[in-house]
Amino acid sequence: MAKSCKLQASESMDHGPSGKLQAIIWPDSFDIKDYESMKVKDAIKITGSMTRTKKMPGLSYSLPAWECITGKKLRAVKGSVCSGCYALKGNYTRYPAIKAAQYYRLASLMEPSWIPAMVAQVKRQKWFRWHDAGDIQSAKHLTNIFEVCKQTPSTKHWLPTREARFLSLMDPAIVPANLIIRLSGHMVDGKNATWWPWTSSVSTKTKTCPAKDQGNRCLDCRACWSRNISNVVYPKH
Ligand code: SF4
Repeated sequence: MAKSCKLQASESMDHGPSGKLQAIIWPDSFDIKDYESMKVKDAIKITGSMTRTKKMPGLSYSLPAWECITGKKLRAVKGSVCSGCYALKGNYTRYPAIKAAQYYRLASLMEPSWIPAMVAQVKRQKWFRWHDAGDIQSAKHLTNIFEVCKQTPSTKHWLPTREARFLSLMDPAIVPANLIIRLSGHMVDGKNATWWPWTSSVSTKTKTCPAKDQGNRCLDCRACWSRNISNVVYPKH
């Protein structure tokens, strides 16, 4: 590992001004080739493990929903999509190991080799879903995700988020071509944002996601990953 990485790591171990964890600032000298031989089992020790669900066609990744910046506020809002958040109940609370693993991943955002360790695990996946629980923690966290996407060009990435703050100052053109960021609507049956090209919403009246009709599986649907589909509507559970 390059010495400059270690320096950056020690510099970035603090919480940011907002009190939120700030992801590592990756050094300019970063070269993925230095890490090509990283084994998946070693990568998992750095980032924590991924999830393979029956529903999705590839691996998923989760962070603790307790730490969602916007979600934390929305949970108190009646009628919001976060008010009955699935990631704060069921298996997420029944099994302490799941919560512990999510917090391990959260802490790993500060690891100097987070990007290559994620690349080592994701690069053989055709489809990858970021944040089936949890959300973006900082602008640097998002740009580090961009770097993982750039270094895994054969993988299609889908990143749902409620953190408009990190997208509002960004030109969608800088999003890597193999990544779609869907901005999720805040309210059930609410309006979608019009300033970002890809969104998702939750409705009590309609749906475009077919999973419910096909055993809660995506099967051959890849709508969430498609830039040709501007909005995906999920049914309210
Ligand atoms: S819209 Fe398609 S890809 Fe997205 S969750 Fe539903 S079934 Fe899966």
